[in-house]
Amino acid sequence: MVIVTKPGTRNEDILRLRMEIESKGFIIHESRGENFCVLGVVGDTAKCDIRNIMVHEFVEKVLRIQEPYKKANRLFHPEDSIIDVAGVPIGGKKIQVIAGPCSVETRDQIISVAEDVKAAGSLLLRGGAYKPRTSPYSFQGLEEEGLDLLKEARAATGMPIVTEIMSVDKLDRFVEDVDMIQVGARNMQNFDLLKQLGKTNKPILLKRGLSATIEEWVMSAEYIMAGGNNNVILCERGIRTFETYTRNTLDLSAIPAVKKISHLPVVVDPSHAAGLWWMVEPLAKAAIAIGADGLIIEVHNDPENALCDGAQSLKPDRFEKLMKSLKVIAEAVDRTI
Ligand code: PEP
Ligand code: MN
Repeated sequence: MVIVTKPGTRNEDILRLRMEIESKGFIIHESRGENFCVLGVVGDTAKCDIRNIMVHEFVEKVLRIQEPYKKANRLFHPEDSIIDVAGVPIGGKKIQVIAGPCSVETRDQIISVAEDVKAAGSLLLRGGAYKPRTSPYSFQGLEEEGLDLLKEARAATGMPIVTEIMSVDKLDRFVEDVDMIQVGARNMQNFDLLKQLGKTNKPILLKRGLSATIEEWVMSAEYIMAGGNNNVILCERGIRTFETYTRNTLDLSAIPAVKKISHLPVVVDPSHAAGLWWMVEPLAKAAIAIGADGLIIEVHNDPENALCDGAQSLKPDRFEKLMKSLKVIAEAVDRTI
């Protein structure tokens, strides 16, 4: 971190600032020009709040050289992380596709969709039991019963299950029953939830917040990792922009950006990004082409009557067609699917 003071700053102010920073264990390299004094701060500046330095009137600017995240940072972990989800690796050469309905609705629905997506080549089953709905009058999910039905679908197909947690008080049940815990876009900055997830060793699928910057998103991964859980998978699911044609705007550039700054795997959710079933295939292809490690796709056996997100859900036969069409893209970028 570099601190530059304003011209004419009194020597005693600079000394006081030096003492304040040195007392926290940092080493300071000072260099003085005719007008400015530059202090180079060496140490774990991730723990240093820039605002506490900017508060001094005589400080002109503070520049961070190192990013505020450490455990998620590729700098300290150059090789790609591969996260094991109940025997299914995410982040390796094979692109993993997580598929299933937005919400678990009935036993027949979840088991039939699970069998269909498995037959098409998906190794991981998704399905919401607790749903974060904009309206309190919309279907809120089957909750506990939804988790039970997911377990039945896992027993029937052997597929590990991925589902969203909304509240810390359900954590024990999720740790017990779920193979990968999803943190939804709306909870990306629920710091208490992130801290508690950091105390587990469950794989966490961390969705990007609706208006979160890439750094805020990676900082949320850092929260989980700081607690000791390194099993984090990032999920780009579209961000809020001025565009209303699609539900969100898929930020494809986030994939190479995150891969550059972090070693964590990245999966893409084209379903929530587009909100339109016919756009899922082209966006999924683009995501694979640009380097995503996986996809999470909503599939429903009866989208017209789905209790949630039918408009963006693929029917099983279209999902099967999509999986076939992704093969050629995966091969072109030296991956398998
Ligand atoms: C979901 O995956 O069903 C979901 C609610 O996603 P998001 O948090 O990305 O909106
Ligand atoms: Mn959904």
